[in-house]
Amino acid sequence: MTAPARPTMSGKAITQSQFDRAADLINLESYMRRILTSPFREVQVEVPVRLDDGRIEVFTGYRIQHNGARGPCKGGIRFHPSADHDEILGLATIMTWKTALMDIPFGGAKGGVTVDPKRLSRLELERLTRRFTQRIAIVLGPYRDIPAPDVNTNAQVMAWILDEYSSRQGYTPAVVTGKPVSLGGSLGREEATGRGIMYVMAEFARDFGVPLKGGRVVIQGFGNVGSHLARLLDAEAGAKVIAVSDVQGGILNDKGLNLPGLLAHVADNKPVSAWKGGKAITNDELWAVPCDWLVPAALGSVITKEANARTIDCKVLVEGANAPTTPTADLILEERGIPVLPDFLANAGGVTVSYYEWAQNLQQYRWTHEQVNRELQATITKAYVAVRDLAKQKAVTLRTAAYAIALQRVAEAERLRGN
Ligand code: NAD
Repeated sequence: MTAPARPTMSGKAITQSQFDRAADLINLESYMRRILTSPFREVQVEVPVRLDDGRIEVFTGYRIQHNGARGPCKGGIRFHPSADHDEILGLATIMTWKTALMDIPFGGAKGGVTVDPKRLSRLELERLTRRFTQRIAIVLGPYRDIPAPDVNTNAQVMAWILDEYSSRQGYTPAVVTGKPVSLGGSLGREEATGRGIMYVMAEFARDFGVPLKGGRVVIQGFGNVGSHLARLLDAEAGAKVIAVSDVQGGILNDKGLNLPGLLAHVADNKPVSAWKGGKAITNDELWAVPCDWLVPAALGSVITKEANARTIDCKVLVEGANAPTTPTADLILEERGIPVLPDFLANAGGVTVSYYEWAQNLQQYRWTHEQVNRELQATITKAYVAVRDLAKQKAVTLRTAAYAIALQRVAEAERLRGN
C-alpha cells in the first residue's frame, strides 16, 4: 500500500498565495494585509508524558491564535506526527476565514501535538491530553479560545480537556466543543462537518447540474468527516459512494459501496481495504477513479501538481479536509475547468455546530437535533449563495470569492476596533 503525497508546500505559503488573490480583489490596505497574515498569538509548549512502562517522553505542542477580532478564537486540536508550527499556523489562518465566511462570532485558532497517537495506549493519550491542556490553559477560555476535535482527536479527548480545564477554573463546558452529548456536547455535532459538506454539494448540484442523486462520489479519508459524509450522501442524498480510503488503502465498488456494511466493518477498528464488499485499491489508485465528486477528507496537500492535479477525473473537487489542494494544483484545476468547493466553505459545518454547542453551553439550554440541522443548513447555504454570487459577479473562482467575503468581514472588525 502506498501513502499519498505528503505536503510539498508549507501551510503558511498555501494560505498566503490564496490570500493575495482575494486581497487584490477587494483592494485591501497593506497594513491590513500585514495584520491579517500574521498570527495574533502563538504558544509552543513541551509536553512530558509518563508512558506505561515508566519512561518519560517529551512531545512538542502548539496553540496558535490567528485572529480574534470577530470573537473568541476557535479551532481544532490535532495529534499527528507531521503536525508542526507551520502546519498549525496555516490551519489557524483558515479558521479565521471559515468563521468569518459563516458569519459566526468567532476568530481562528488551531492546536496540535507532534505525536503518533497510534503508538500510545489510551491512558498515555489521556495523560498527554491533560498535560497539553495544562500547558496551554492560560490562553484558553469560553471568551478567549475554544478548541474542538480535529485529526486523531475526538469527543473523548475533548472530555479530558473539559475536565482538566474545569478542575482549575470550575465547571466550564463552553471551553471546548465537540464534547460527548452527555457532557454538554450538541446533538448533531459529530456528523456536522459531513452534513455541511452534503448541504453545499446539494446546492452546487442544483445550480450547476452535476448530479448528486445517483452521482458517483470518491472520498479520501474515512474518519469523522469522510465516514459521516459517505453515510449521509448514501442515506439522505441518494448518491453512489463508489470508493473510499483510509491511511492503509482504499476500497472500490463501481455499483456503489454498501455503507451500513462498511461502517459496521470499520467500527471494529478494521481498515476499509480489508472489507469484502469491494475491490481493495491503493491510496494512489484512488485518485484515478473516474467520478462526479471527489472529496479529499484526510490530510492537507494531497492534490498536487506532481501527484494528481492533471489526472484526477472528477466533475467537482470538494475540499472536505483543510488545505488539501496546493496553490499550483488549484491553478491547474482552474485551467482544466474543474470547480473546487473550497475547504473553509465546504467543511465549515463542524465549526458552525460548534458555535451552536457553545451558545447552548452558555445558556444551559439544549437544542433538538432537527433544530441543529435546520440552522446548519440555513447558515452554510447562505454562505454558499454569497460565494457563488460573488464568484459570478467578479468572474473569479469560488475560493477567491470566499476569501474576499471573509477578508472583508475580518478587516471591517479590525477597523472598527481601531488601534
Ligand atoms: P480523522 O482523524 O477522524 O480521520 C482522518 C481519516 O483520514 C482517517 O480515516 C485516516 O485513516 C485517513 N488518513 C490519514 N492519513 C491518510 C493518508 N495518508 N491517506 C489516506 N487516508 C488517510 O480526522 P477528521 O476529523 O475526519 O479530519 C479530516 C480532515 O478534515 C482534516 O483535514 C481536518 O482538518 C478536516 N476537518 C475536520 C473537521 C471535523 O469536524 N472533524 C472539521 C473541518 C475540517
